[in-house]
Amino acid sequence: MLFARRIEHCQVCGTPVEHKVPADDNRERAVCPSCGHVHYVNPLNVVGTLPVWGDQVLLCKRNIEPRKGFWTLPAGFMELGETTAEGAARETDEEAGAHIELGDLYCVINVVSAGQVHLFYRARLLDTEFAPGPETMEARLFHRHEIPWDDLAFRTVRMTLDRYFADRETGQFGIHCADIR
Ligand SMILES: [Zn+2]
Repeated sequence: MLFARRIEHCQVCGTPVEHKVPADDNRERAVCPSCGHVHYVNPLNVVGTLPVWGDQVLLCKRNIEPRKGFWTLPAGFMELGETTAEGAARETDEEAGAHIELGDLYCVINVVSAGQVHLFYRARLLDTEFAPGPETMEARLFHRHEIPWDDLAFRTVRMTLDRYFADRETGQFGIHCADIR
């Protein structure tokens, strides 16, 4: 996934770039040999929620690649002009059409290999009326014993659910930080 974001052509003039360490830098960048533009690629934030209704959690079956047909928590790329919390709420609306009361930040997971940081907020569902958007085949509630562990889309979703069910035993929900390399 990291290399999916590798730049091959200059975003200013379209010339094939050279990958080299620019002067006064210490990392390899995509440098345009024609106009001199240096491309800086930095990690992206993926923001989402863990929506809960009683002792059930909401999962969405993905209708898009990657991991089409697998189950995920509602989440997606943060947009310019919004906060992480606003992005998480927006993704929950777009992917599940779920009505939530957003709670506290719950998991921050560095996905180093993909150049992403995943942030999940806890959320309380206000009702069980879901209206999945085009990126979702199905949105439904799962009891703990029903969670499709083998068909989860992403490791960060598994980690967040693992921690949630463990915390629910104690009733103590802090913030969890983890790294995937
Ligand atoms: Zn250029």
